[in-house]
Amino acid sequence: MDIKNGFVGTVGNTPLIRLNSFCEETGCEILGKAEFLNPGGSVKDRAALYIIQDAEEKGLLKPGGTVVEGTAGNTGIGLAHICNAKGYKCLIIIPDTQSQEKMDALRVLGAEVRPVPAVPYKDPNNYVKLSGRVASEMENAIWANQFDNLANRRAHYETTGPEIWTQTDGTIDGWVAATGTGGTYAGVSLFLKEKNPDIKCVVADPMGSGLYSYIKTGEIKMEGNSITEGIGNSRITANMEGAPADDAIQIHDQEALRVVYQLLRKDGLFMGGSTGINVAAAVALAKQMGPGHTIVTILCDSGSRYQSRIFNREWLQSKGLLPE
Ligand code: PMP
Repeated sequence: MDIKNGFVGTVGNTPLIRLNSFCEETGCEILGKAEFLNPGGSVKDRAALYIIQDAEEKGLLKPGGTVVEGTAGNTGIGLAHICNAKGYKCLIIIPDTQSQEKMDALRVLGAEVRPVPAVPYKDPNNYVKLSGRVASEMENAIWANQFDNLANRRAHYETTGPEIWTQTDGTIDGWVAATGTGGTYAGVSLFLKEKNPDIKCVVADPMGSGLYSYIKTGEIKMEGNSITEGIGNSRITANMEGAPADDAIQIHDQEALRVVYQLLRKDGLFMGGSTGINVAAAVALAKQMGPGHTIVTILCDSGSRYQSRIFNREWLQSKGLLPE
């Protein structure tokens, strides 16, 4: 028998998918870790599970308690599922710039959703800081604190990284991923570098995020902007602190969209915008490294979460981003 134990037992062990059209283009093996196949639909299920389990083990989260988080959506969806499966309540504080699909999903899952104006991290009313304050004022509640809670990157150090290593039989040459909290990138990089320090670990960054300049020059500089949700940062989170990074690659939205549509039309994969950034960066890294290399990235979540946006002509036109 091969039976998974509920939602929790179904998180992780995702397939690694050969992205054929991009392999043909580059002469490299471009492989995508299918995190959209997690039961909550994104890479964030792993972090959500580790954060809740860690709080339980430390005795911080007790039966009937509430999990509070500031999230762009996917972490909230993962947390809401796990809260349902384990009998906790869930309160999500979300910037009002995020897609309607994600807010609707959170409400359907029974989370209390509080949309708040999107203001920079330095503002005390930033959604992340607000969620910490709200949690501290509640009885029997924890703040998931995904950006600085190291249970997040531990999920990827203990699961995603080893899975990629085993699935490629240790032949991986390059690893590239965009970062939101940095949990995925850092956890996988730390694990892979221990296995083989020659594996090139590269941060993919959208325009308007500070990590590209930080890795290139040691200074955070943010220029331009991006329509991609869930990635990019203006600071080095505790999860990103000390993560090995050999290089960084910056990707424009237009290029990420071209890649998202190629994944859809040529590879049959319906993916969100951050996956476009990731695969575009994997292709750029493949071109740098040359044919014959194996490069792994993350397929973060499904395009169905962005149907009203990057798969909607009017929305794209309003952003000046209509693909050819
Ligand atoms: N892609 C999407 C769609 C996300 O929601 C997130 C998380 N916010 C990421 C990528 C990045 O993951 P991480 O937080 O592990 O850096």
